Amino acid sequence: MKKYAFEYTFEDWQDYIACKGEAKYRASQIAEWIWKKHATSAEEMTNLSKALREKLQEDFDFAYPEILLTQKSKDGTRKFLVKFADGETVEMVLMKYGARLTLCLSTQVGCPLGCTFCATGASGFSRNLTAGEIASQFLLAEKVASRDLSNVVYMGMGEPFLNTEAVLKSIRLLNNEKLRGFGIRHFTISTSGILEGIEALSASSLPVRLAVSLHAADSELRSFLMPVNETNPLPELRKCLLDYQAKTNDRISFEYALFGEVNDTVERARELVHFLRGIHSFVNLIPYNSTGGRYKAPTPEAVLRFKSILETAGFETEIRASMGQDIDAACGQLRRKVAGAEAQTPDSYTRTDVIAHANELHDTANIERYERKAKLIEKKLMAKKTSGGFIDRARKRNAKGTKNAFQKREHAPKANRHKLNAKKSVGK
Ligand code: SF4
Repeated sequence: MKKYAFEYTFEDWQDYIACKGEAKYRASQIAEWIWKKHATSAEEMTNLSKALREKLQEDFDFAYPEILLTQKSKDGTRKFLVKFADGETVEMVLMKYGARLTLCLSTQVGCPLGCTFCATGASGFSRNLTAGEIASQFLLAEKVASRDLSNVVYMGMGEPFLNTEAVLKSIRLLNNEKLRGFGIRHFTISTSGILEGIEALSASSLPVRLAVSLHAADSELRSFLMPVNETNPLPELRKCLLDYQAKTNDRISFEYALFGEVNDTVERARELVHFLRGIHSFVNLIPYNSTGGRYKAPTPEAVLRFKSILETAGFETEIRASMGQDIDAACGQLRRKVAGAEAQTPDSYTRTDVIAHANELHDTANIERYERKAKLIEKKLMAKKTSGGFIDRARKRNAKGTKNAFQKREHAPKANRHKLNAKKSVGK
């Protein structure tokens, strides 16, 4: 059976070449063809002897995953459904942000973690990808784009730290100077908070960037949104991140998707501030883009209020605008659609966002509008008489928080109300 060429480290190529009785420098030539010149068959390796090319073709599979489907967004985001040799499919997304080109790649076929807002989680889990399959997405993306990538985020389908060995190996392959030589600081691993994986990354001494999808700093709410919180609870996650930071001295990014009236309130922001205290953090707020269903989009005012609370508490915070909103850009949607299942737009948020300045949100921010809208929300929520589940209970609690915020703000000078409210809310 043929071996997948992208699984081979440089040392493996050296061993292979030695076994075949070829000169040592042939290993560098082969590695260059595969990792830098994007060859997908031995025939393309024209500076090798015919005999060696034939041996290579006999022993190895050099093919990239096959692109089954491509979607292109108006903003330039391109999403691909790709198929591996065994027929399994995953998604990868190429995002253009200015001159930078970022790839979001997948690490598993499906995902076993079942986050309640995620289409990938809803489609179940099939298998882990190998290191070569992960790295080949990178090479395929470069070939399709006809240029070098600027960044790669391990944030597509699957939880990277449920496949840690292959993920770390793929990074070593792509980073190795003899292979692709992609800069180590251009890798980001995004995890839902798997403690063992964070510890393994710390032990690996690979200085890649770490991002944590948090979405709630309250245990009950987080367990509801992300069942992984049951086995990797918040207090232990926090301790693990502090240990990671003590060892690496690296800033940690936190992804926080804002679901309207669920985790976007003053109370939730204060919980987040409490969780982040002592951690050198960067917070990405991702307003959920809803088209109906279980979760809804936060109001622009709620987003700004949340951001303001974090910033007042001293945390660098950005609002991310979703890329590729006109295509099935949220993780797992395209694969489900092609597989014939209903695409879960309502319960999916775009994990593959890149940072964009949310000027629109800033433009719409004014206190009067905020007050008007928030009062309406408060009224609506208070009118709910029955408790129909966790979301309803959360909304009621949030409504109470909103009311308290209003009472506190009543005595403040009008022009400073928003600011003062934010300060008071973080317990200053
Ligand atoms: S959000 Fe990530 S960890 Fe959660 S189910 Fe989806 S792919 Fe898995």
